[in-house]
Amino acid sequence: MPTLRQRGEPPACPFCGAALPRSRRRPSNATSVLPGGRCSCGACFVVDPTGRNGGHALLEALEDACGGDRERSQLLEPGRDYQELIENYDAQLHRFIKGFRGYRRGMARLYLVKLTPAPAPSATPPGSRPPQA
Ligand SMILES: [Zn+2]
Repeated sequence: MPTLRQRGEPPACPFCGAALPRSRRRPSNATSVLPGGRCSCGACFVVDPTGRNGGHALLEALEDACGGDRERSQLLEPGRDYQELIENYDAQLHRFIKGFRGYRRGMARLYLVKLTPAPAPSATPPGSRPPQA
């Protein structure tokens, strides 16, 4: 297999497989300078153009996923309340640059989060029955 790693690949949502739109300024968050966007499945992403603001970009992505509710977003726990994907990203080419991990000088990173649907308060969803022993 020839290696195409440096060329990257079109960013796709890991949760639904759809192509991600280009990042743009997020009007929902007037105080932020980080671009981002959202997938049709509800996943939200924020791009950290320097690759050095990781924690911040992730928090902003979570905030977007919560509809701008910062307090709620700060209560979320990874794995339990949301799934995250962190990928190196070439904002100019709009490509994921896969094949290595960790910080790379001059490389932007994309932080994508999707909230896990909250389990229904009742153990029995409407229209279904608990398994019989
Ligand atoms: Zn999606």
